[in-house]
Amino acid sequence: MKQYEIIYQNEADFIKELEDLKQKCNTAGASNLMFQIFSEILEEAVINRLCQMIEQIFPEAPYFGCSTSGNLINCQLSGEIIVTATIFEYESSQFKIFQYDLHSKPVEWITEAITKEAENSPWLRAIEMYFTIPESSYTRFCEGLDRIRPDIQMFGGVACSDDITSDASCVFSKDGGFSESSIVIVFYGGKDFHVDSIRVSGWKPLGRKFTVTKSDGSILQELNGIPAYDVYYKYLHINNDENFFYNTLEFPLFYEHNGTNIVRVPVASNADGSIVMSSDIDVGSTVSLSYGDPRTILEIIAEDSKNIRSFCPDLLHIFSCAARRTFWNTSEPAYELEPFKDIASSVGFFSHGEFIRTNNYLNQHNVTLVVAAMREGPKKSAAAPAPLKSKEHSSRIPLVSRLAMFISATSLELEQANNNLEIANKNLKEAAITDGMTGLFNRTETQRRIAELLDGSGERNFSLVMLDIDNFKQVNDNFGHQEGDTVIISLAEILHNEIMRKSTKYAAGRWGGEEFMLVLPDTDISAASLVAELTRQCFANTSFPIARTQTISLGVTKAKKDDTLDTLCTRVDTALYQAKKTGKNKVVIL
Ligand code: GH3
Ligand code: MG
Ligand code: MG
Repeated sequence: MKQYEIIYQNEADFIKELEDLKQKCNTAGASNLMFQIFSEILEEAVINRLCQMIEQIFPEAPYFGCSTSGNLINCQLSGEIIVTATIFEYESSQFKIFQYDLHSKPVEWITEAITKEAENSPWLRAIEMYFTIPESSYTRFCEGLDRIRPDIQMFGGVACSDDITSDASCVFSKDGGFSESSIVIVFYGGKDFHVDSIRVSGWKPLGRKFTVTKSDGSILQELNGIPAYDVYYKYLHINNDENFFYNTLEFPLFYEHNGTNIVRVPVASNADGSIVMSSDIDVGSTVSLSYGDPRTILEIIAEDSKNIRSFCPDLLHIFSCAARRTFWNTSEPAYELEPFKDIASSVGFFSHGEFIRTNNYLNQHNVTLVVAAMREGPKKSAAAPAPLKSKEHSSRIPLVSRLAMFISATSLELEQANNNLEIANKNLKEAAITDGMTGLFNRTETQRRIAELLDGSGERNFSLVMLDIDNFKQVNDNFGHQEGDTVIISLAEILHNEIMRKSTKYAAGRWGGEEFMLVLPDTDISAASLVAELTRQCFANTSFPIARTQTISLGVTKAKKDDTLDTLCTRVDTALYQAKKTGKNKVVIL
C-alpha cells in the first residue's frame, strides 16, 4: 500500500495535484485506489465541490470522508482539509465502502446489514467505521456487530467539528453523498492484506471508586446513591454550567465494561443532576474519576507503539480524541504521536469518539487513541528499532503525578479502613443479638422477635415452643459442669441444624440456662407440635460421651388475638411446666 497526501489550499492547486497524482498512477500502472477526505470545514457546498473535483480527475475512484476537529498527516497536525489517496499494490487486495443513513433505518437493521455483508465477504479482514455524532448512544450499534467473525478487526471514529462541544458533524462517500446522520463503513481485506489495531488511553483512575446505582441507558443518574453531577461538584468543584463539558474533559470517567477499561467523557449535564454519556452505563458497574498525566501517557504510547512497529505496516489510520488535542494544549497537539512517525505513512483526525474491538466486543471510547496498522504482503523488512527514550521522560516525576499517586494511595487506605469498620460494625451488631455459648439468638433478641410478630392487630398465625432439659441439675452434679455445657451446646446444634433448616422464617433463642424458645412464624398449633415432637425425639436419640442420653420437656402454644408478650410467654411456660409435672420427656400443647 502507498499513500499520497494533498493538503488542500485552493481549487487550482488541488486540481493540479490530482492531475500529478493521476500521472504518477498511470506511470506506475496503479489502478486500485481510494480517496479519503478529512475536513475541519463542515459546509456541504465545500465538501461537495471537493468530491466533484476528485470525480472529475478520477471518475472511477471511490472516496469517503468526514468532518473533524483537526487533521493528521504523518502524525502531524495538517491543513483544514486534507485528502489522501491510498493505492493498493496487490491484486488480491479488496475494499468496499458502504454508507447507511441513521434516520431512514433503525440501528438493528444497519448492524444486521453489515453483519450479512461481512458473512458474504470471506476476504474481509477489517471493518473501519466513521460515524456522525448520534442523537442517543452507540451501545446498540456496538452490540449489533458482536456476531461478526472474531478474527475481523474493527476500528473507527466519530466525526467532529472544530467546536468539540457542538453536535454538528458529517460523513460522506461517493455512493452515499453528504450526510449529517450516517455511518460510513469500509471493508478491507484480501489474502495478502494484513491488519492490526491498538488502543491507548494513558488516563488513570483517580481516588475512590463509585458504584453506578441508577442509570437509564446513556443517562447516568446516580453514583453511590447521589446525583452523578454532585460527584463532579463535590470532588472537583465543577459547576453544572456551559463549561461543564470542558471541565470534565480533564477528569473523565473511567470504568470497566466488557472486560475492558474505558475512559468516557460526559457529553452534557442535566438540571436534575444526571449526566449524559455517549454510551449506555450499566447499573452496578464501578467507575472512578480519571486524570491524564503527560509523562505516563508518553511512556505508555512509547511502549504500545512497539507492537505496531513490529507489525511493519505500510500505513496507519489514526483516530485520536479531540480531548487529547485540548489536553496537550501545545503548539504541536500531535506531540504524543511522535513514536509512530517513522513507522509508516499515516492519516487520521481528531475525533468525537473512538471505536475498537477488544475481546470480541466493539466498544466506544473517549479520550483514546486508536491506531490501525495495514500492510499488503509479508513484512518488507525487519522492524526498525524504536528511537531511544529521551532522558527527560525517565528522570523526575512531576508534581501532578505525585499528587495523583498520593490521592489514589490515601483513598485506597481509607476504603480499606472503611471496609474494616463495616466488618467490625457488623460483628458488633451480631454479638448484640447472639448468645455467646450456643450461637443462637439471646433472650433479648428472641423477645424482640416475638414482640415484632405481636405488633399490629388481627389474626396472628405464629406459635412458640419452649423447651427445658430434664433433671439438668443432676447432669452437672453427676458428670461435672463441663459435660453439662456439652449437653446444652448439643441441644443448640440440634435446634440449629435440624429444626431451623425446615424454614428460613424460624428462629431459635436461648431463653436462660438450659431453657430455649422456638419462634415459628406462619405456623399453626399442629405444625408447631410436630416441630416440638421432632425436637424431643432428636435430642432423646443423641448420645453424649459421659452423660449418655438425656431428655427435654416442651410446651407449645399459638399466639391469640389479644395476647401480649407477657400472656403469650406465660402460657407457653405453663405448657412446659405441665409437661414437667406430668412426667417430663413430652410435649404439652396449651
Ligand atoms: P427440671 O427437669 O425440672 O428442669 O430440673 P432441672 O434440674 O433441669 O432444673 P433446675 O432449674 O433445678 O436446674 C437447672 C440447672 O442448670 C441449674 C444450673 O446450675 C444449670 N445451668 C444453668 N445454666 C448452665 C450452663 O450454662 N452450664 C451448665 N453446665 N449448667 C447450667
Ligand atoms: Mg431443667
Ligand atoms: Mg430450667
